[in-house]
Amino acid sequence: MVTATNLQSIRNIGIAAHIDAGKTTTSERILFYTGRKHKIGEVHEGAATMDWMEQERERGITITSAATTCQWRDCTINLIDTPGHVDFTVEVERSMRVLDGAVSVFCAVGGVEPQSETVWRQADKYRVPRIAFVNKMDRVGADFWGVVSQMKERLGARPVPIQMPIGVEDGFVGVVDLVEFKAAIYEDDLGTDYKKVEVPAELLEEAKLARDAMLEQLADFDERIMNAYLEGQPVEEAWIRETLRAQTIGLNIVPVLCGSAFKNKGVQLLLDAVVDYLPSPVDIPPCEGVNPDTGETVYVKADVDEPFVALAFKIMVDPYVGRLAFCRVYSGKLESGSGIYNSNTRRRERVGRILRMHANKREELDSASAGMIVAIPGLKQVRTGDTLCLEDKPVVLESLEFPEPVISLAVEPASKADQIKLAKGLEALSEEDPTFRVRVDEETGQTIIQGMGELHLEIIVDRLKREFGVDVKVGRPQVAYREAIRKPARAQGRFVRQSGGRGQYGDVVLEIEPMEGHKGYEFLDKIVGGVVPKEYIPAAQ
Ligand code: GDP
Repeated sequence: MVTATNLQSIRNIGIAAHIDAGKTTTSERILFYTGRKHKIGEVHEGAATMDWMEQERERGITITSAATTCQWRDCTINLIDTPGHVDFTVEVERSMRVLDGAVSVFCAVGGVEPQSETVWRQADKYRVPRIAFVNKMDRVGADFWGVVSQMKERLGARPVPIQMPIGVEDGFVGVVDLVEFKAAIYEDDLGTDYKKVEVPAELLEEAKLARDAMLEQLADFDERIMNAYLEGQPVEEAWIRETLRAQTIGLNIVPVLCGSAFKNKGVQLLLDAVVDYLPSPVDIPPCEGVNPDTGETVYVKADVDEPFVALAFKIMVDPYVGRLAFCRVYSGKLESGSGIYNSNTRRRERVGRILRMHANKREELDSASAGMIVAIPGLKQVRTGDTLCLEDKPVVLESLEFPEPVISLAVEPASKADQIKLAKGLEALSEEDPTFRVRVDEETGQTIIQGMGELHLEIIVDRLKREFGVDVKVGRPQVAYREAIRKPARAQGRFVRQSGGRGQYGDVVLEIEPMEGHKGYEFLDKIVGGVVPKEYIPAAQ
């Protein structure tokens, strides 16, 4: 049984990426190297997995946001799964809210894509420190330095490469660690054995230039590095590490690493960087809440001795344990068997068990303390976004923002017998997902479901079938604000309307209707990131 953990040794991180950049593969490899997983490719084995739902596997996307705990060096890493698909942007936001740092995975060939920009801006909004992993270095056309430039140009970031690839495409064999100035060469297919050797002579010149470029950037933040660098004196590794850590946490720089998750190269060094440069719960500012009785601001500090405060950031149904509330504990300590107060609903509940999810097992804990991410089964009244705390020290944490749904779909039970199951399923799903809404059309009496995109609703319908055994008939997807749409966009003849003032990141909000045979999200793929190609925008209305 586990009790309080040393706060400095916790890393609550997410892996944020454009779909297909390699987030799932990187997560799998992380679980493999941290020793929680037995065989590569079997991340879905066992009771608890990163991707919970069957359909995610079929579709190859990650929709839900579960948390998986693993161990690297002396640190406990909680991997909070963030979805990469734009229909689930709100899920990404939800996880950004509870993590302390993130690994941004980019594809070495595709580079910074529109969705990477969306995810990046969400991380900016929540002030999440990041390190970047340029994945797929083994692919034809991989271009590490090209991706680094794109990070500057398209994301306005300050990337600081702390590695340099050795070889590329088929010839990618490892990296030069510019901090230690050693080459890490991978020798076997599983990547479990890599050796750190002197930088090969033929790479020496290029590696020195890359290291100088890193030092020049760090010199802007640290006088010791500046002076030593200017005077041609050796720069101590400890200064480099300290500066990298402080400036990453201060959101001034983004250390950049590279590798090939699929070919098992570079993941251990990425884990080292997570431990070395991403913040622990005590490295980030206290989170702000409000006392619901007095309206006073409350600062919630990552401290085990402070009153207990946690945020439920994900409600999901585990096939084995039932309803689970994933919570991030911000301060204090929760013992199993004790009572909690939900300050949003003002209800009391009892916490029977506290679980921690690993890749291949669930661990039962005696208590959950500040900084930890745990799953609590059996809380019936808790919804996503609720704050759990002590009744005599109530606090409501800043609530999550949920955008209005954009697409509607009429659903009908296929038979009378399905009617009750449908109502039950819709109730459970809307409780789990605040961007999913259900209403009854007054004129027609039809049940209308609303969500963030066509894929979102497709998945809901799929889950109704799989999880609730309901057979439903569905209508054609309709854009939520249909009357506002007037002109077809020329390209591909889809309807587009740009609405003012709703974007949370200064981005435009589009209302679209996919054409027959098209998916709405294919269209969104082209325009997210705030930049709408001209041909998609209708002329003045
Ligand atoms: P996600 O959508 O970001 O979760 O991406 P996945 O991890 O599912 O990867 C998408 C595809 O890229 C899969 O076919 C992977 O096998 C492949 N992939 C992932 N990492 C690498 C890599 O390092 N090299 C190559 N060549 N393929 C990769």
